[in-house]
Amino acid sequence: MAARKVTARTPKPKPCRVCKGTGEVAISVRVGRKRRVVGQQNGYCLNCFGTGDAPTS
Ligand SMILES: [Zn+2]
Repeated sequence: MAARKVTARTPKPKPCRVCKGTGEVAISVRVGRKRRVVGQQNGYCLNCFGTGDAPTS
């Protein structure tokens, strides 16, 4: 019985490449027809849904 030791560590999920694992992305806030950028705010990363982990599959 050669019990092969299975790695008990849970595989570390790859960080989302869009938000780099933070779960937030900087979004430019534009105002008006000229699309004047008035600043940036942190937004929810839609690639990983704010988890910071790269979506599987
Ligand atoms: Zn993300």
